[in-house]
Amino acid sequence: MEVITINKKENILDNLFNILSKDLHFNVSKLSKENFNQNWKVPEGFISIIGLENAKKPVFYFGLTDNYKEYSGFKKIKSVKGQNLIFFRIFYLFNRKDLLEKEKYVVANAFNGLLLAIKIDKDYFINRAIEVLTEHYEKDDFVKKAIEHVMEENMLEDIEEAIKYIANRDYNWLIGRIKYYAKTFQYSGEGYYLIPLKTNLEITPGLIVDKDNVIIDLENCQLFQHYLIYVDTKNNKIIYNKERLCTKKPALIDIKIDENTCPWCGAKLRIVKSKKGEFLGCPNYPKCLYRRFPKKVN
Ligand SMILES: [Zn+2]
Repeated sequence: MEVITINKKENILDNLFNILSKDLHFNVSKLSKENFNQNWKVPEGFISIIGLENAKKPVFYFGLTDNYKEYSGFKKIKSVKGQNLIFFRIFYLFNRKDLLEKEKYVVANAFNGLLLAIKIDKDYFINRAIEVLTEHYEKDDFVKKAIEHVMEENMLEDIEEAIKYIANRDYNWLIGRIKYYAKTFQYSGEGYYLIPLKTNLEITPGLIVDKDNVIIDLENCQLFQHYLIYVDTKNNKIIYNKERLCTKKPALIDIKIDENTCPWCGAKLRIVKSKKGEFLGCPNYPKCLYRRFPKKVN
């Protein structure tokens, strides 16, 4: 695993290519009609990464697109105890026709493949979740009951706080899983993942393909075993793994989770005595709503 610290913050993709070309001996160029004399029209936002090992042996030859639409929604589930449960999710939709056009270009220029770049942003995720849940609380009885259940069960003050709690819970759950599969534990989880469209000539496991779209569902974590580069925009780091060029399965790392540490923000948990009862809570309250309850003894 290689880690590189990003110096400038401005444009993260520009940064990525700067670093790849300067420090890693990658030759990077934006494709244009001028420098690639092909019949194919150059797709917008399509950038080449041409990798050279020791400035000699090409190892990396990919196109890149971040041309996607985001959409969000929630899953409704009835628990075995009959409780209403909801889980907020975000999806990234790449237009299938557009990708096919880009693939033609990839083939015509003897590239190895196409990388899909998605940006995972914590504030965006949480604000969107709050917006959607607040809207559905008013008009959807299932959602209303589910939010009320979360409020009761976690001793939260009110509906607003329960919605904020769900938004943070779901963000942290998804990011935790992605970090586990992508082996990027010590990094923020915020930033860009570059994921290959195809692995061994097959659509990469974890990508969902329907009639019009190629979809990234963050919950399909096996996808993140195949990522090539991760750009951490919070800690300004780039993590790449040359060994993981779609061939080897990563070995999972054993990690010990300290049970006194808040899994959402890293602070040391403390005992909180509230009007509603006692629990292990985060000292960063109300910014962080994480809490854990002792197992009930009957
Ligand atoms: Zn916390």
